[in-house]
Amino acid sequence: MNVDLRSDTVTTPDQGMLDAMMSAKVGDDVFGEDETVKALEHKLAAMFNMEAGLFCPSGTMTNQIAIKCFTNPMDEVICDQTAHVYRYERGGIAYHSLASVRLLNGERGILTPELIEPEINDENVHYPHSSLVVLENTVNKGGGACYSLSQIEPIHTLCNIKGLKLHLDGARIFNALTATGDHAKDYGQYFDGISVCLSKGLGAPVGSVLLGSKETIKKAVNIRKAFGGGMRQAGFLAAAGIYALDHNIARLSTDHKHAKALADALNNVNYVASVLPVETNIVVFEVAEGLKPAHLVHQLAEKGIACNVTGPKTVRMVTHLNISSEMIDRAVENIIHLHVSANK
Ligand SMILES: *Cc1c(COP(=O)(O)O)cnc(C)c1O
Repeated sequence: MNVDLRSDTVTTPDQGMLDAMMSAKVGDDVFGEDETVKALEHKLAAMFNMEAGLFCPSGTMTNQIAIKCFTNPMDEVICDQTAHVYRYERGGIAYHSLASVRLLNGERGILTPELIEPEINDENVHYPHSSLVVLENTVNKGGGACYSLSQIEPIHTLCNIKGLKLHLDGARIFNALTATGDHAKDYGQYFDGISVCLSKGLGAPVGSVLLGSKETIKKAVNIRKAFGGGMRQAGFLAAAGIYALDHNIARLSTDHKHAKALADALNNVNYVASVLPVETNIVVFEVAEGLKPAHLVHQLAEKGIACNVTGPKTVRMVTHLNISSEMIDRAVENIIHLHVSANK
C-alpha cells in the first residue's frame, strides 16, 4: 500500500462523510436557497466569532476574493515572501486586484510588527497605498510553523493604528489551533477576513469558507459571482464540510504526532542534512550535500512513500487523515533502512 504524504489535499471522503453528503438538503445557492450551505457558513462564522461566511470552491478563491474586498487598484499588499497568496495563486493579486505586493522575510514565514511597520508606506504621491496585511497560519512553506494569538494581537494593533486591513490565510488554521491551544472564537476580533480550507487536514473533498463582517461578505458574494464561483446545489459539498468540522478536528493531533515520528526518523539518516522543527502536520527537510531532492523522492517512491520536492534542496511530507499509524510505522522503517544510491 502506498503511503501518500504529498499533501493533505489527497484525502478521500469516508462512508460517514459520503452519507452526510448524500442526505444533504439542497437548493439553488445562487438564489440563496441552499440551507446546508447556509448552515456551514453560519457554523464556521460562529466558531470564529465573525458575523458571516461565504462558501467557495477553493482556498485560492477565498483568499483572492478577500484581497479584492480589502484593496483598491494601485494599492499594495504586505505579506511574507513564502505566502501562498503570492507564490501559489498564479499571480492572482495582480490579475484580480491590480495591486502590488511588498514581500517580507519572516522567520519560517512568521511576520512581526517590527518587520511590518517599516514597510507600510506613508501617504505620498509616489508610493502605492499600503492597504492590507496577509498572514498565513500555519505557514505552508515554513514547514507548518504557527502563529499564536499573542503574536497576532500586536500585528492587529499595528494594522488598526495605521488603517490597514488584516486577512488570515487559514488554510490550516485548525492545525494551528491544535498546536497552540488557542481558541477559534478568539480569532474573529483580530481579522477583517479569515479563509478556512475544508479540503486540507479536515478531509472534505472540496471547499473553503471566507469569514468576515456582514458588509465584507455582501461584497464578497458579488466578487465570487464575477469569479464564476457561484454554485447551485452546493449543499452536497457543504454537508461534507459540516461533517468535517464535527468529526475531523479532534483527530488532527494524531497527524501532528505522525509528522513528528517522520521527522525523528529523518533526523537520523545520512541522506538528510536538516529537518525544520515540526509543529503541525508538515515535515520539510533539506537533503544532504550533493544529493538531488528529486532523486531521493524517486527512491522513496520505490519504497511506497510518496512525497514532494519543494525547493532546490528541500522535500516535504504532509500527514493527514488517510494516513494510519501502521502506515507511519512502515514509512519510518523504510526511511531508516533506505540506502540512497548516488545521483543517476
Ligand atoms: C492549499 C492552500 C490554500 C488554498 O488552496 P486551494 O487548493 O486553492 O484550495 C491557500 N493557502 C495555503 C497556505 C494553502 O496551503
